[in-house]
Amino acid sequence: MLDLSDYPIAENWFTITKVDDSTDMLLEPNVHILEQANMFFVRGSERDMIIDTGMGIVPIAPYVDPLSAKPHSEIICVSTHTHIDHIGGVHEFDIRLVHPIEADEMASPSIMNTIVRDEIDPALLDLFASSGYPPLDELLITALPHEGYDPRSYVLKGAPATGLLEEGDTVELGDRKYTVLHVPGHSPGSIALFEEKTGVLFAGDAIYDGPLIYDGPGMRVEDYIVTMKKLQALDVSIVHGGHDPSFDKKRLDEIVEKYFRIWDV
Ligand SMILES: [Zn+2]
Ligand SMILES: [Zn+2]
Repeated sequence: MLDLSDYPIAENWFTITKVDDSTDMLLEPNVHILEQANMFFVRGSERDMIIDTGMGIVPIAPYVDPLSAKPHSEIICVSTHTHIDHIGGVHEFDIRLVHPIEADEMASPSIMNTIVRDEIDPALLDLFASSGYPPLDELLITALPHEGYDPRSYVLKGAPATGLLEEGDTVELGDRKYTVLHVPGHSPGSIALFEEKTGVLFAGDAIYDGPLIYDGPGMRVEDYIVTMKKLQALDVSIVHGGHDPSFDKKRLDEIVEKYFRIWDV
């Protein structure tokens, strides 16, 4: 039996950390580290962008809206891919972009749709453990968002895309412009956003400084190898991954080399 009385009530569900003058990072600290995704808000001169939207346990828009430079500025929501920890709040935004391969999954999520451990496919639990993540407790959260919250009522809503992003497309915010890179491996329609002018790379789960997950549904090591070579060829100044702290080109190379050893490349 699930005893919720042991769980504290979180005061603020999302934390917001300044990355640079135009970028903030949002995080859900009360979500298990496995599904604790980095979300990035970027202010542009003409419109703003939110990259990924977390688990959807609590609405994210009330946290995002005040970050805009101008009230009611247009916000473009980009989903790097459609895993549960990246599309939870996508339905809260009017402009929703994703790679075409994962558009159906974003409209009606099917891979994982629960925050209760015993409702997760055992094959996925094995995958998480073998990837190097600590075991899950009975819930994927360590606090409740409010009094009376029932984790069993959680639903990952998803939402249909309003536009599609493919390799070579650009997302333009006015003074900032990001090129879309198709980076499959972790998921078939994973995308990254690269700003050539500054070397900033938003990588989603294609690369981050923690245990990568490459052996589950929709994942392919052969694709991942191509993706890693593509990322290594970029002139990056900083990589903001979908999880864990940001890192530089040197660390990117180290992570790639580590997985090339594991994959026998
Ligand atoms: Zn993730
Ligand atoms: Zn993922």
